[in-house]
Amino acid sequence: MKIDGLRVSGGHRLLPPPGFLGITLFGRVWTRHSREELAAFLKTERGRRFIRHERIHLLQARSLRWWAVFYAVYFWYWLKLFAVTFNSPMAYRTCPFELEAYDNEDDGDYTVSRWRDYRLTNRQRRQWYREEREKS
Ligand SMILES: [Zn+2]
Repeated sequence: MKIDGLRVSGGHRLLPPPGFLGITLFGRVWTRHSREELAAFLKTERGRRFIRHERIHLLQARSLRWWAVFYAVYFWYWLKLFAVTFNSPMAYRTCPFELEAYDNEDDGDYTVSRWRDYRLTNRQRRQWYREEREKS
C-alpha cells in the first residue's frame, strides 16, 4: 500500500531486524506485520508517527539525491561512533538522520530535511545519549 509517497509492505520474515517496527529501504518500508495488522496499526497514533518517521528518511535520501549515498553516509555516521564505543544502539540513535527523524516525527508538516543541522561530534553524541537515557 502507498501512504504519503511511501510504499509500505508487511508480512516479512527477515526485515526489519528484531526490535524494530520497520525499516525503510530504497523508499519502501518493510515490516513484519501482516497486511491486516499493518492496516490496523497505521490507523493508530503510533502507526502514524512511524510513517512520519520513515517519511523523514525519504526526505533525507532525497536531499542526498540517491539512496546509495544516503546509506553510505548513514553507515559512515553509525560506524564513526560504533568503532570507538561498540555501542550499536548509541551509534544508531545519535546518527544525524535518526536524530532528525525522531525529533520531528510528530510534525505532520515536516517537508524539508535539515539533517545537516543534527550532526554532532562523537563526544556530543555520547553525552546526548547519556542524558537521554537518564531522562527515561
Ligand atoms: Zn529511523
